[in-house]
Amino acid sequence: MVIAFPMSDLTKIFGQLAVILPTERILTAPEDIIPYSFDGTAAISQRPLAVVLAINTDEVSRIVRWANETKTPLVTRGTGTGLSGGSVPTVGSVVLCLARFDKILELDRRNLTMMVEPGVTTQTIYDLADSAGLLYPPDPGSMKISTIGGNVANNSGGLRGLKYGVTKNYVMGFEIVLPNGDVMWVGNKCVKDVAGYSLREVFIGSEGTLGIFTKILLCLLPKPAAKKTLLAVYSRMEDAAETVSAIIAHPIIPCTLEFLDKTTIACIEDFAKVGLPREAEAVLLMESDGHPAVVAEEAEIMARLAKQQGAIDVRVAQTTEESLRLATARRSAFSALARVAPTTILEDVTVPRSELAGMVAFIQALAKRHNLRIGVFGHMGDGNLHPTFLTNEKNTEEMHRVEIAFQEIVTETVRRGGTITGEHGVGLAKKKFLPESVGGLNVEVMRNLKRLFDPNLILNPGKMFDC
Ligand SMILES: Cc1cc2nc3c(=O)[nH]c(=O)nc-3n(C[C@H](O)[C@H](O)[C@H](O)COP(=O)(O)OP(=O)(O)OC[C@H]3O[C@@H](n4cnc5c(N)ncnc54)[C@H](O)[C@@H]3O)c2cc1C
Repeated sequence: MVIAFPMSDLTKIFGQLAVILPTERILTAPEDIIPYSFDGTAAISQRPLAVVLAINTDEVSRIVRWANETKTPLVTRGTGTGLSGGSVPTVGSVVLCLARFDKILELDRRNLTMMVEPGVTTQTIYDLADSAGLLYPPDPGSMKISTIGGNVANNSGGLRGLKYGVTKNYVMGFEIVLPNGDVMWVGNKCVKDVAGYSLREVFIGSEGTLGIFTKILLCLLPKPAAKKTLLAVYSRMEDAAETVSAIIAHPIIPCTLEFLDKTTIACIEDFAKVGLPREAEAVLLMESDGHPAVVAEEAEIMARLAKQQGAIDVRVAQTTEESLRLATARRSAFSALARVAPTTILEDVTVPRSELAGMVAFIQALAKRHNLRIGVFGHMGDGNLHPTFLTNEKNTEEMHRVEIAFQEIVTETVRRGGTITGEHGVGLAKKKFLPESVGGLNVEVMRNLKRLFDPNLILNPGKMFDC
């Protein structure tokens, strides 16, 4: 939707912002602001009034103060890879883009921490830790381009989430600009700290609605000495799901247990040609990391369990390049699916692991029933599935069926004790499902928190819920 604003408004806003920022970092021309009208979410877009590119805390604080005083909605943005519409502008808003606020400030080997600015990409953080013999585990599929600010705001997960957890498990502290422009520090380098309420938990995952991260203190781990990657091939989807349950029940917690269905395998092969078996109904990508002896033992047990559960083939990657190729293939799942249809709508439901096989079967039956093309992949070890609708937003009749199927997936997820989003956040895309997922009282408490921190509803208004 394009809503035009009177030139006089734009000129006034431009003049006010020019007091804070150099004019080359204030964008108002349509050709400059159109790329900031959407994120990675299909079928949601809105042009902002203007885009400002801030590069330090002082600028962010002054912009927020200005927004609060003039009651201008402010939408913070990293690189816009979000998949729930979190950084899509609201009507009449200014986008505050932090992608250029991107310095590494410190790597502290004695405390195993790294301090970064919000615009640093996840891959840069991983690479720097890796070159120092350390590991920054959270690895969203978008890590080459997503920013750490966006990762913290969405509490993003990744392929290693099963063993290592998600972004919040690696955030020790941060500097945050509050909705009135005040700058606050939360956390420190202490491994233990129970002084007061845990404000970290309040802000992490708040999707740009409560404050703006301007510095982030991350903790790192020693790099695992060894890693083994296995690919198990199945002619029945349920056997893959049962393998996941058998591995967890053994109990083994591998660092990666990823799943691809037949549609996704075909799209990845067309896109990246990594040698995935097109004839398979499903594959599981399994990785164990740690001490070489433990890795060897876990890999051997996982291969055995996969075969016992009906895998028709189990391949063990023979070289680092081969493991990397398989992991990269999995990371490219969304991009590969996105190539085959004009509109790709990605779901992000999570169910208890015991419900996985049933949930996957439900989605397959649903696709047949509604005559829709749905590719399914996901972090199966976490119970986190990404059913992906391959559709065309211009086909109104098909989009109607997609909407009905989307709602049915949500309802089935909640019925099975799951959640409407495991890692992509609520944003705009999942807003209407939030009460169904967490309950009305939970949403009311969240609303009260929002009103407490941001009484003028400046930061990312209308996201997650209406106030
Ligand atoms: C191909 C692909 C693969 C993906 N794979 C994964 C995956 O495996 N796991 C996963 O969890 N996600 C995944 N995502 C989703 C997305 O990459 C993540 O949500 C990511 O963290 C968004 O980062 P960003 O910099 O693009 O943030 P944006 O999309 O720009 O913003 C996301 C949200 O964070 C807020 N925000 C951004 N920066 C700040 C800040 N400094 N302070 C406060 N709020 C801020 C925004 O307002 C918005 O609500 C994938 C996306 C794509 C396109």
